[in-house]
Amino acid sequence: MNTARIAVFPGSFDPVTLGHENIVRRALPLFDKIVIAIGRNAEKSGMFPVEVRKSFLDDLFKDEKRVETAIYDTLTIDFCRSINARFILRGLRSGNDFEYERLIGLSNQKIAPEIESVFLMADNRYDFTSSTVARDLLRYGKPLDGFVPEPVCGMIRTYLAQKP
Ligand code: ADP
Repeated sequence: MNTARIAVFPGSFDPVTLGHENIVRRALPLFDKIVIAIGRNAEKSGMFPVEVRKSFLDDLFKDEKRVETAIYDTLTIDFCRSINARFILRGLRSGNDFEYERLIGLSNQKIAPEIESVFLMADNRYDFTSSTVARDLLRYGKPLDGFVPEPVCGMIRTYLAQKP
């Protein structure tokens, strides 16, 4: 039996924010490995291609051996099963997040009772932070400092400058 405590942190990460980074770093003592998994969503393409989002995450956690990244296009629980992950990690910012997560968490519990969802409350320094706000700031040419991790701000500038 596989006893490693592997957690999947699923999301869009379009782009990764300081709030996401904070959840991963705080969750590391709880798990042996965290796989940050970007769901490929056929219905919304997003601002950054999923491979680019993954490259931001790879760079951000390049010194943390217990963090891996992945792209998946199945149900989250099927992805968890495929890599023997027994935990799903999510962050909670607000009552809205809670209600949304409650429905998904309970559905996952019904379909995959062997996989436990674990929720960490957002750090109050970042609980206003979202990828949606970061994308809005970018659209209107505003700096992302204080919303997106510093090294990722640089990668975003480089990516946008090279984009045709
Ligand atoms: P999704 O499209 O699945 O909501 P996101 O990339 O927006 O994907 O978020 C992934 C996870 O990170 C979710 O659990 C979300 O609640 C959490 N999260 C997002 N922003 C923050 C933040 N500022 N603080 C803590 N958790 C956050």
